[in-house]
Amino acid sequence: MVSKSANSEQSRRDRYAAAVLHVLDLRQAAGDLRSLLPRPDLAGDGPVAEVRTIVAEVRAHGDSALREYTRRFDGVDLDDLSVPLDETHAALERIAPELRTALTVARDNIEAFYEGRPEPAGRYERKGIFVDTLEIPVDRAGVYVPGGRAKYPSSVLMTAIPPKVAGVGAVALCVPPGPDGKLPDELLAAAALAGVDEIYRVGGPQAIAAMAYGTKTIPKVDVIVGAGSRLVALAKQEVRGVVGVPAAFAGPSEVVVIADETVPAACAAIDVIVQAEHGPDGLSWLVTWSETALKEINDLIGQFVASAPRRAEIESTLAAGGYAVLVDGPEQAMAVANEIAPEHLELCCADPASLVSMVRHAGAVFLGPWSPASLGDYLAGPSHVLPTFGSRRAATASSMRPLTSRRSPRPKACSRMQSRYGSDRSSTLPASDRRPAPFARQDVTLREGYHSPQVEVDVRLNTNECPEPPPEEYLAELAEIARHLDANRYPDRQASALGTALADHHGVSPGQVFCANGSNEVLQCLLLAFGGAGRTALVFEPTYALHSHIARLTATDVLTGERDDRFAVDEKRALEVIAEHRPDVVFLCSPNNPTGNSEPRATVEAIARAAPGLVVVDEAYAQFSPWSATELLESFGNLVVVRTFSKTWALAALRLGYLLADPKVVEACSSVVLPYHLDSFKQEAGIAALRYDQAMRERVARLAEERGRVVAGLSALLLDVWPSDANFILFRPRDVDSQRVWQGLVDRSVLIRDVSGFPKLEGCLRVTIGTPEENTRFLQALGDVLGEVSGH
Ligand code: PMP
Repeated sequence: MVSKSANSEQSRRDRYAAAVLHVLDLRQAAGDLRSLLPRPDLAGDGPVAEVRTIVAEVRAHGDSALREYTRRFDGVDLDDLSVPLDETHAALERIAPELRTALTVARDNIEAFYEGRPEPAGRYERKGIFVDTLEIPVDRAGVYVPGGRAKYPSSVLMTAIPPKVAGVGAVALCVPPGPDGKLPDELLAAAALAGVDEIYRVGGPQAIAAMAYGTKTIPKVDVIVGAGSRLVALAKQEVRGVVGVPAAFAGPSEVVVIADETVPAACAAIDVIVQAEHGPDGLSWLVTWSETALKEINDLIGQFVASAPRRAEIESTLAAGGYAVLVDGPEQAMAVANEIAPEHLELCCADPASLVSMVRHAGAVFLGPWSPASLGDYLAGPSHVLPTFGSRRAATASSMRPLTSRRSPRPKACSRMQSRYGSDRSSTLPASDRRPAPFARQDVTLREGYHSPQVEVDVRLNTNECPEPPPEEYLAELAEIARHLDANRYPDRQASALGTALADHHGVSPGQVFCANGSNEVLQCLLLAFGGAGRTALVFEPTYALHSHIARLTATDVLTGERDDRFAVDEKRALEVIAEHRPDVVFLCSPNNPTGNSEPRATVEAIARAAPGLVVVDEAYAQFSPWSATELLESFGNLVVVRTFSKTWALAALRLGYLLADPKVVEACSSVVLPYHLDSFKQEAGIAALRYDQAMRERVARLAEERGRVVAGLSALLLDVWPSDANFILFRPRDVDSQRVWQGLVDRSVLIRDVSGFPKLEGCLRVTIGTPEENTRFLQALGDVLGEVSGH
């Protein structure tokens, strides 16, 4: 007998049995995960047949079918299906105020997002909500390229390159085989150039079905792109939903040429018939308001077709889809074109730009007789797979339709071939057609507050420059260099003499030196060569902001490691992060800007040993440091030491920096830097500077002594002061707002650096060591400001 309590336990279990999650144990699962992850079948035969019936009924019977289905599915009998808009306003008044507020806030946010969203990717912020728009490539793309009647190597390039550039995992190409079962060489060659990953000799709707569902030979893809015959385009509509298919119907070629008598009739005639070559079902229309032009162009078409190598194809297209339309004027011509919504619209008339604003529906617009559709078909750049069959009328979800217009300038000699190279998009657009400037990348803006404000002050202690100019004799040498410069000649591209002088200076070989415009450009070259999409750079915040900034600019992912309380890199954590994420570049900064501490030699060694990629030690302030990572260059081929002439050499105006590293690193940087980036004056000025090494060391000694005095002065003012191995000092006012202190100093004509926006440096300021007089003035001003803001 079952007791009452056991009974109720059973019924509780029955009740909840369906509510708990099904457990899937995937440990040890190998191979195709997709088949192991169940998902409800939304498109079974039953629902598909039902939907088809409903669609057919509505198509055939309109409103009466709608009423019938509303009665059947929604249980109401409605005479009028439309809702008057007044009702919406009345409803807005009726709903609860909190709901109205909530809906309004949501409406405002949605509007703001679509008005200001970053295209195509980037960060959008509104009222503390951050929305990152990412573009993530699909895993597999299927590219369909037609064959049979002709060879289309350009279609291989146009359709396979965009997914490759997007970073799609694998691009599979389907092409119908020729009668011998082979694919033409031109096509295979284009596939090689495009970097296609798989090729299948299958065409037609069967190829589309294979890519959508997968077969033993052809694995399923995630999207299918590319144009094809009518049957191929219909097959794509059929598998939409199973696989991603662009909204546009990429079917047989279409062109509408709007021409007048100001353009060479031969150009218009050729453009009407070239798209017709592709075979049946296409459209070739001429629209004109000039009877003369119509006759002339139509006559020429007759002549050209008669001698065309693909006469049969052209004739079959023109028989069903070739029209010459006579209209009242440009406006009616555009109305006709908009109604057709052609794949290619050519504005072959006197002032094509004036018609652009009237374009409502077209795949691509070509301006002027020197911009034939073939310019877009073969080499202008944007994909030539364009919407046909009026499908450009269909909007995307955001109600925007992309429209590319292509224009080529009139060639000097009257040859169509010349017109295909080069483009002049803006010069002749009338002011009213001026296109707005496009949005720049929004993912790369420098951290707010990075740039020190440039204000006019007497005492400038904000950018870690050397307060003293270089020696008089050196300045005289600079004048001589300028006087004898071969200004009409490009500089030595390798900066060989400068490289050799620096190599001697550091006791390394010339092949280990790479020079650039400031160490910032050195860092940029390193990231261009060793960072990039799919790669990672590790930085230890707070540190020099340009390391992570340039990394982001070069699409390198940025990882952040940790520093301890005294801002030294936490070696143990660093090794863990390196082991886990295997960054391609690790940035160290020693002495670190803006904290001032040098990294211990043991830390740099341990990181260089553990890192799988480059370890860059930015030594902008090396001469103040007790040691230099140059000592480790012999032991570590992955170590890079970056130096600058901007600080201790007192040459910030010169913009000269360099790195010391393995020759392979130097070669890589040389291959990404712009040719002749380093001007001749700078190269010679750098060599000459090295002769004043002794003067530089004496300057460094003077600055270090002054630093001691400033540290003592700051400590006396009851501030938090961090020890420094550089020509700047990090400090934090206690119990006083650092912004007010900074502003108070500016008011006294002393400019220092507000670093309170750096990670972990809230309330911190950084002061560069100046001349003794400047330092005294700074300390006095700071004392005054602190007295003022703390109310003493
Ligand atoms: N690295 C560090 C650590 C810096 O502080 C600076 C300049 N503030 C630079 C590099 C860039 O110096 P430059 O481009 O002038 O050589």
